[in-house]
Amino acid sequence: MRIVLVGPPGAGKGTQAAYLAKNLSIPHISTGDLFRANISQGTPLGKQAKQFIDAGDLVPDSVTIGMARERMAQPDAVGGFLLDGFPRNVAQAEALDAALGEDDLALDAVLDLEVPEDEVVKRIAGRRICRNDSSHVFHVSYNPPKRDGVCDACGGELYQREDDNEDTVRKRLEIYHTQTEPIIDYYKAQGLVVTISALGKVTEVTDRAMEALK
Ligand code: ADP
Ligand code: ADP
Repeated sequence: MRIVLVGPPGAGKGTQAAYLAKNLSIPHISTGDLFRANISQGTPLGKQAKQFIDAGDLVPDSVTIGMARERMAQPDAVGGFLLDGFPRNVAQAEALDAALGEDDLALDAVLDLEVPEDEVVKRIAGRRICRNDSSHVFHVSYNPPKRDGVCDACGGELYQREDDNEDTVRKRLEIYHTQTEPIIDYYKAQGLVVTISALGKVTEVTDRAMEALK
């Protein structure tokens, strides 16, 4: 299956993507995780992206689309993938359609995670991620690690993302409304959108998502 996950920052996209990708046997591709890995490795791409991420802005399409296409061309993604955080604007959605179209492929579904803004703010405020792998995600109260500050999955150090501060979060939410939400209408026109509530326990949301993707 080829699936796009959409939702505001902090909705639980990364958390759900980890379970859904496993259940569906497809790779979880997060452009945010790819950028963070490039930043921690000090690559030229990471250097280009950092200033935009720190400011809560979108990284320019010229950088993002190439990176996403390269990842989707890896052998593990040939049979399908779960995209998390990409596309984030209509130009990216059009580029994705064009790229898939070149191989006579298309998306199967766009899963839209709905969460009220006050909940998203609480989720982001308590989010802690792993230094080794930013797809290892915890929350200080909703999903605490077994040992304080230590990743359950790999023993890495947990930290708060620099862009998870109040000012940057406000900016990211605004960008979500102005630039990312329009892709929901873009995909509705293709009949691809399934919307679910992302409130409740992580496992409840996963069950809802699996049901919606049937
Ligand atoms: P969140 O999980 O809070 O939604 P992500 O980890 O997906 O955040 O993204 C973090 C930051 O990385 C974004 O605020 C943005 O600066 C950058 N980014 C991630 N994906 C994209 C994208 N598709 N286009 C442009 N910028 C992106
Ligand atoms: P996104 O990728 O959409 O930005 P994350 O998956 O990183 O969101 O989740 C944001 C924060 O909310 C994390 O700290 C995560 O542990 C927590 N979280 C995710 N899903 C839930 C849930 N259903 N209930 C409570 N907290 C959650």
